[in-house]
Amino acid sequence: MIKNRISRRRFLQGTLATGAAAASLSSISLIAGEVSQPAPTGVTYAQNWCEMCFWKCGLTAKVVDGKVHKLEGQKDCPSNRGKLCAKGNAGIAQLYDPDRLQKPLIRTGERGSGQFKEVSWDEAIKYVAEKCNGLKEKYGSGTFSLFAHGSGEHAFVDLLHIMGSPNICIPSYSQCTGSRDIGWALTYGKPVGGKEPVDSENAKCIMLLGRNIAEALHMGELIDFINGCANGAYVIYVDPRYNKTAAKANKYMMIKPGTDTALVLAMINYIIVKEIYNKEFVEKYTYGLEELSAHVRRYTTKWASEVTEIPEKDIIEAAVKLCEAAPNCYIHPGRRLTRYGSDTQFVRAIAILNALMGNWETPGGIFKPVPLKFDTPHMVHDLEKVDAERADGAGTEFPIASVDLGLANKMMQAIAEQKHPLKGMFVYGCNPFHNQGSTDVVAKAIEASEFIVTCEIYMTDTAWYSDVILPESTYLERYDPIISTARKSGYIQFREPAVKPLHDTLGAWEIAARLSKAMGYQNHFMDVREYNTELLESLGLSEKVMQKHGSLVGAEGDPFPLASGIEPEFHTPSGKIELFSNMLNDLGYDPLPSYQAPPMPKADEFRLLFGRVSFHTHARTQNNEWLLALHHSEVELWINSGRAKALGIKNGDKVCVTKGNKKSNPCIAKVVDHIHRDAVFLPHGFGSVSKGLTRISGVGARDSDFTSDETDPISGGAGFHNGFVRIVKA
Ligand code: SF4
Repeated sequence: MIKNRISRRRFLQGTLATGAAAASLSSISLIAGEVSQPAPTGVTYAQNWCEMCFWKCGLTAKVVDGKVHKLEGQKDCPSNRGKLCAKGNAGIAQLYDPDRLQKPLIRTGERGSGQFKEVSWDEAIKYVAEKCNGLKEKYGSGTFSLFAHGSGEHAFVDLLHIMGSPNICIPSYSQCTGSRDIGWALTYGKPVGGKEPVDSENAKCIMLLGRNIAEALHMGELIDFINGCANGAYVIYVDPRYNKTAAKANKYMMIKPGTDTALVLAMINYIIVKEIYNKEFVEKYTYGLEELSAHVRRYTTKWASEVTEIPEKDIIEAAVKLCEAAPNCYIHPGRRLTRYGSDTQFVRAIAILNALMGNWETPGGIFKPVPLKFDTPHMVHDLEKVDAERADGAGTEFPIASVDLGLANKMMQAIAEQKHPLKGMFVYGCNPFHNQGSTDVVAKAIEASEFIVTCEIYMTDTAWYSDVILPESTYLERYDPIISTARKSGYIQFREPAVKPLHDTLGAWEIAARLSKAMGYQNHFMDVREYNTELLESLGLSEKVMQKHGSLVGAEGDPFPLASGIEPEFHTPSGKIELFSNMLNDLGYDPLPSYQAPPMPKADEFRLLFGRVSFHTHARTQNNEWLLALHHSEVELWINSGRAKALGIKNGDKVCVTKGNKKSNPCIAKVVDHIHRDAVFLPHGFGSVSKGLTRISGVGARDSDFTSDETDPISGGAGFHNGFVRIVKA
């Protein structure tokens, strides 16, 4: 019955980055970002991509008399098409922020006391190397763990490989998109990928389930969405909270938190029963309709209405609207899918609903990213990837989880529990105290670690508890290896310093190279410029060309091949889109998504929801002076007006979040009708304890003190939204 059954190994490979192939000079068309005006005296321009979030918008820095004066979006960079958001513009405030880490630091007092001494780079590198070599001798090479996120993450990933440890985690996987990518890959044979391939501009109908595209924003994606709205797309937005994306929608549906899967399953059932799905597509390209049909029969729209608290007629209307627009419609696969610990099956339901629309590789639906293929040089020569068992269970306890990206949540628990002798922790560009589901677990892990090294630009909460802090140059002060991205076209982006480092800081690659050498390893690290030159030469380009253009589009393939008559390939066991998942079945999981009701808050509790606001990224930008000014340094807690009234809380009151013996710093109550009565909402990233973040230390609530630390049984990814809190007046 199943043709072309593929192995789990091949599936896992399919969830990772695409391979490389040779490209010719003629494949590069010079169309992007050219600075047309001659530079006046005292004015220079430097090309870069924004690092204030991870969308990597192309930008040109205008430097006047040696100072960065303005950041401009590169007009033809496909990531952002000339635009930068507020965070992107505030990169200047980050560069010139006196709160930045300015010299290497070694801890002198108790962890968390904030007592450090400034040292030279030579001293810091020697100290780290000696400590690490000592730990390795005592506990073995697997004693080191890494949590890394950002453009320099590969430098530390390679360093950990050199040091012989497999315990490498990129937290954006388990803490953000891992469950989503696994759920999608189980269905379609490949993950969603870092930049979601949804064609908003041509969509006739768009459904978003908690994907707050207007606030957890990425420029190119937002531009597409706004264009889609302007082109007449019918937007259905589902969320417990009426936010800025809801304000753009034709139909907003307030949902009881935790019940999204019930809604999607009922829509699937309705569409199958009414036979309004894309029959031709489903018959030709999907596997398991019969099993799916029988499985979802119990999920009626009436039942879903009771569970979700959405009127039944609205559920039916949403299903019909999508089917009327099919195949030029999509249901967004989501971004941070770490909600209730059952997120892989939630995404499976979304993927199945999309499949019923037949929107694959079709305008207005899911497009096929067009990669720019070329041979990538290796930054580190003679690098051997470590193929040992990991402490987080990726590849073993969680057989489908990526062993290259790891499970940061499970790794942190493993360190805290010390079932493995994990004694040396490296942290690069991320902040476990804010991105893990339990700060208690992080605190335990820190206590259990003998040595913690953090490479950062700010004194984050995690840096505050580290033994050594290695200050990184900001993206406006350094070169980085050229990156390539696949969207509707494939393109490369170039980064060069706009100014020399203002302080005694280094780029991640140089730090990793120095550490490797000091530890006695022989691997040769390429210089970043040497790497870029080699890569550019293979494309018939040069640094000079990139300095002029910044971003270059080199591949203009067809993002809608199915609509053009080209048959798609699905790297699933059946070779088709798997409504019924053979791989889940083989592994003993439910091959079809079911609704599991999450735990619910008690009558006097609220479910804590958190997320991004349009002017901050994760826990990285909260101390930025320009961005803080946008909200007068106030942190709002959204609370339902009926619930607030019962608690005697009025709009603007100071309130605290409590759970057990934990109590947050005061927040400002934002009392609204349009948040579900079960939930309160906090903007992510505040409540820092580090005194090194002088503007926001002790400001607002740290959501991670109150979130849940669930584990999705399939992906191993985290689930944060089963944390229940009480709200009291400050
Ligand atoms: S979306 Fe904003 S913060 Fe993110 S890369 Fe683009 S300009 Fe920078």
